[in-house]
Amino acid sequence: MLDFWLRASSPVLSASVIALLLWAIFSPLPALLFMLVVLLILMTRHARQLYKLTLWLAKPDLQTIPEANGIWDDAFSSLYKMVKRHQQTKLDLAAELQHIELATSALPDGVAILNIGNRIEWCNPLYAAHFGLNIERDIMQDITYLVRQPDFIEYLQTANFSEPLVMSPVRQTELRLSVKLIDYGDNKRLLISRDITQLERIEAMRRDFVANVSHELRTPLTVVHGYVENLQDMEDLDHTQISRALFLMSEQTQRMDNLVADLLTLSRLENDHSPAGEELLNIRSMLDEIYREGQSLSNGKHAITLEFNVNKNVVGNYDEVRSAFSNLLSNAIRYTPAGGAIAVRWSERGEQLIYTVQDSGIGIAAQHIPRLTERFYRVDRSRSRETGGTGLGLAIVKHIAMRHQAKLEISSLENQGSTFAIVFPPRRGKA
Ligand code: ADP
Repeated sequence: MLDFWLRASSPVLSASVIALLLWAIFSPLPALLFMLVVLLILMTRHARQLYKLTLWLAKPDLQTIPEANGIWDDAFSSLYKMVKRHQQTKLDLAAELQHIELATSALPDGVAILNIGNRIEWCNPLYAAHFGLNIERDIMQDITYLVRQPDFIEYLQTANFSEPLVMSPVRQTELRLSVKLIDYGDNKRLLISRDITQLERIEAMRRDFVANVSHELRTPLTVVHGYVENLQDMEDLDHTQISRALFLMSEQTQRMDNLVADLLTLSRLENDHSPAGEELLNIRSMLDEIYREGQSLSNGKHAITLEFNVNKNVVGNYDEVRSAFSNLLSNAIRYTPAGGAIAVRWSERGEQLIYTVQDSGIGIAAQHIPRLTERFYRVDRSRSRETGGTGLGLAIVKHIAMRHQAKLEISSLENQGSTFAIVFPPRRGKA
C-alpha cells in the first residue's frame, strides 16, 4: 500500500521539489508554469491509460491487455492475472461439465432436465433415443409437444410421481419404457426413462413358465385323483380292477416324476453357468451304452445304427453330455414310427466334432423348428405326452450344448425325418 502511494506520488513530489528550486532561484512564475506543465503531462498520461483500459474492457481478451509503466503497469498486470485465473476456471468448469456429460451419456437410463414449462433444458443421448428426439433441434422445446401421448401428458400434469409410468413411445412401439419424474431444486424436474423391454419379456416368460408347470402337473394329478376317488367309491373291487387302476396311477406319477426331474435339471443348468467337473470323455464307450439303451427303448421297432467316423473325444461333463446325447436318441425313437431307421453318428466337420442323430420319423414343419428348444414347446402335445415327453428335453440339450460352447443344429422335413446335431468347437476336441 505504502509502496503504491510512494510510486503514485513520486513524479508530483519530484516536480514539486524542482518547482521550489525554480521559485528560490528565479521567481514564483516559472515555478508555477513548470508545475502546471508537469501536472498536465501526468494527467494526460493517466487519461490515456484510462482510455486504453476502457477500450479493452469493451472487448476483454487476454492477448490484448494494454501495457504501461508505473502504477498502471501494476494495475494491468493484476488484471492480466485475474483474467488468466478466470479463463483457467472457465476451462476447468468446461472440462468438469464435459466429464459430467460423458458420465450421464454412459448412464444406462435416459435423463432429461425439464423446467417449469416442461421445456427440455438438457438431455442425455439415451433419453433422446428413447423418445426419438434430436438433441440439438429439440432442446428448449416443450416435451408435451414432442411426446404427444395422452398417458404421458397426464403423468406430467399429475403431481403424484411416486409410481413410474410404463409406456411405449409412438415411434418405437416395441420398446417398453418406465418413466419417472422427480422434482428438484427451484421448479426443476428430472425425467428418467428406463428401458424395461427385456425385464417385461422375462416377467412374461416367468408367468408362462409357472402356468405351464401348473398345467403339466394338473393333468396327471387330476387323473390320479379320479382313480383314487373311484377306488374309494367302489365297494366290491376285484383284483384286476385294482391292479389296472394302480398301473394307470403309477404311469401318471411317473410322468410327474419325469417332469420334476427335468425341471430340477433345467434349474441346475441355468443356475451355474459352466459345467462342474470336466474330463476327457470316452465317446466310444458312452455312445455304445446309449446305443444299447436306445435299442431296448425301441424294443426292436426301429433299425438303429451307430457309426464312428472319427477317433477323437471331447472334454466335457460326463453326466451332461451323456444326458444330451441320449435325449436326442430317445426323441428320435419316440418320434419315428415303427419300421423307421435311426442313425447315430460321431464325426468331424473341419476341426469340429459332431454328434448326429438322424431319423426317418414324422419330421417337423419349418415354422416349429426355431421354437423347439423353448421350454414346453411341442409340435404335437398328445404325441409327446403319450411317449412320456415333458417338453423340456430339447431345452435341456440346448443348455448343455451352450455350457460346452457347442451348437445344437436342427434340420427336418415334415413326414420325412429329422436330423439333430450337437457341434463341438475345435478347442473341446482331443485325439
Ligand atoms: P418332448 O418331451 O415333448 O419330446 P422335447 O423338448 O424333447 O420335448 O422336444 C420338443 C418337441 O420337438 C417335441 O414335442 C416334438 O414335437 C419335437 N421333436 C423333438 N425331437 C423330434 C424328432 N426327432 N422328430 C420329430 N419331432 C421332434
